[in-house]
Amino acid sequence: MEKDVVCGMEVDGKNAESFEYKGKKYYFCSRACKEKFLRGPENYLAKKH
Ligand SMILES: [Zn+2]
Repeated sequence: MEKDVVCGMEVDGKNAESFEYKGKKYYFCSRACKEKFLRGPENYLAKKH
């Protein structure tokens, strides 16, 4: 399982929406979460560190 960094949900990497950003692949539970991420990736990445 992969973690959706936008909403925090666990997602199945095989079927999920995904996007590669700065060499790392991110997975999303839905297109809506992916779009939120695309609008401001750094907002979501900053929370983790
Ligand atoms: Zn989500």
